[in-house]
Amino acid sequence: MEKFTRRNFLSKGAMLAGAAYPAMLALGMLKSSEAHAFDLPGNGNGKKIIILGGGLAGMTCAYELTKLGYNCTILEARKRAGGRCFSIRNGSTNTEIDRPTATATFDANLYFNAGPSRIPHHHRLTLHYCKELGVPIQVYNNVNEGSYYFAEGKGPLSNKKIRAREVHNDMRGYMTELLSKSIDKSGLDSALTKEDVEKVMMYLAAEGGLDIDKLYKASARRGYSEAPGAGERVGKVAPVNKLADMLHSGLLDPDFYNVAEYTYELQMTMFQAVGGMDNIAKALQAKVANQLKLGSEVTGITNLPDGVKISYKDALGAHEIQGDLCICTIPLPVLSNIDTNFSGDVSRAIDYISYIKTGKIGLQFKRRFWEEDDQIYGGITHTNNELTQIFYPSNDYLGKKGILIGYYNFEERALSTGKLSYADREKLALQKGRLIHPQYDKEFERSFSVSWHNTKYNLGGWAEYDSETRKNYYPVLLKPDKQVYFAGEHLTYLNAWMAGAFESARSVVAAIHARVTEQRLSYPANNIKG
Ligand SMILES: Cc1cc2nc3c(=O)[nH]c(=O)nc-3n(C[C@H](O)[C@H](O)[C@H](O)COP(=O)(O)OP(=O)(O)OC[C@H]3O[C@@H](n4cnc5c(N)ncnc54)[C@H](O)[C@@H]3O)c2cc1C
Repeated sequence: MEKFTRRNFLSKGAMLAGAAYPAMLALGMLKSSEAHAFDLPGNGNGKKIIILGGGLAGMTCAYELTKLGYNCTILEARKRAGGRCFSIRNGSTNTEIDRPTATATFDANLYFNAGPSRIPHHHRLTLHYCKELGVPIQVYNNVNEGSYYFAEGKGPLSNKKIRAREVHNDMRGYMTELLSKSIDKSGLDSALTKEDVEKVMMYLAAEGGLDIDKLYKASARRGYSEAPGAGERVGKVAPVNKLADMLHSGLLDPDFYNVAEYTYELQMTMFQAVGGMDNIAKALQAKVANQLKLGSEVTGITNLPDGVKISYKDALGAHEIQGDLCICTIPLPVLSNIDTNFSGDVSRAIDYISYIKTGKIGLQFKRRFWEEDDQIYGGITHTNNELTQIFYPSNDYLGKKGILIGYYNFEERALSTGKLSYADREKLALQKGRLIHPQYDKEFERSFSVSWHNTKYNLGGWAEYDSETRKNYYPVLLKPDKQVYFAGEHLTYLNAWMAGAFESARSVVAAIHARVTEQRLSYPANNIKG
């Protein structure tokens, strides 16, 4: 049997970009005491790598490859780095297709995250880079039982803001009551002993907050209509919502009912970068500043017999550069319109993988009324209308002013919102938002919206695979097309997450390093020319 050494591993790792990094982790080739330090053996000896796109994936590739002795150039079309890792502050600009560039005019110390806003505690690589790059993080309050559900114009609960804790506890109560009744009638207990049934009944009572008679009744867990206090103020518990009312108002519809804790990625503890998520991008940018060419839009990618040629344009005109290898992190809807000589399979994969439509609006208010009047500190209100979600900031609590994310929507709703002018998006956010928070009228100051599927150089939120594209097209892009490798969140199972950009970058760096060090060991060092 062939001996499995680091050396022959490296050559085999080159076969499939996605395989090298996980296999190295598994083989313990990365220091186990620092599970996510990326300490590969060997040196790139100045091989020239051209990286297309200066988002998190592109900059991470350059950062890690430079540590390994490669000579990297990053071509980034925008005048800023970071791509989707983008926080909107005073002076931030965004360009959507077919409309003028918009400039934010928020107060100096305020911001909102137009792209990533939360980091799951299990996204180790994202947290690793925050630590390595010295980006301070703070808890992001993704779960807030004090936020609202709001069903506009539907059913008996129409246009009533209902605290999440009421909806969640009412539903747990009703469902556990139903279950205990069916167990009592021997509907569900055929496989259980008498003792088991008793334990299940005890669990159901605890889970749903059932009364001694196993019925669901209002209790303090769903909150108070009059808060308890000193002296005689015992507090008043509000009556429960009727199950039929919640059903008929659509609160339990799958696209509305939302318990973040049921979703792995949204379970607390979650984090955010202090002062804006783009601080992660800025910290990376500081590490690769010498390699980064901003304002350089790639227009062509050509595989040469033993290298790669990239055409791009900047403020000075059109240019061409050559390199040994290339890493393309350009989002696929954008790449689809760039001239290349990729294989048919690769071109098809680029064309067929679709991206989600999504948009957000930041609304600056002169008073944090959601905290002062509604006692909402972070978290999300869910609606059945175009807004879909209102995000409350998880920073600067008790401050004076603040920015809410007035809508964060997807697909059809994002499509229709995205078609509106900036002024009409603001109008919509205010019109619908004031149904929940009438304070909007008095406290609103200004807004800034980003429609990602309309945004130049992205044309989508993130890759959205179905079983067919995942099976038929995804694997094609995990392999290089001759000298061109592909990286970015779209080349992972972590779509919509920064962790995808980081994981993918490392996969490709490992694969390139495997290819280069193997060729260097086997052939003269100058065998691969650009
Ligand atoms: C609305 C939204 C919410 C999100 N929420 C979260 C979250 O809460 N948590 C989380 O972890 N992640 C979140 N994400 C996902 C995260 O932002 C991405 O996964 C990650 O930033 C992708 O990085 P990337 O480098 O792969 O791509 P990008 O950031 O898109 O980088 C690609 C780069 O290529 C550049 N480019 C494009 N065309 C050209 C060209 N022709 N020439 C040169 N350069 C070009 C672009 O300008 C861009 O800088 C969210 C994303 C969005 C859009």
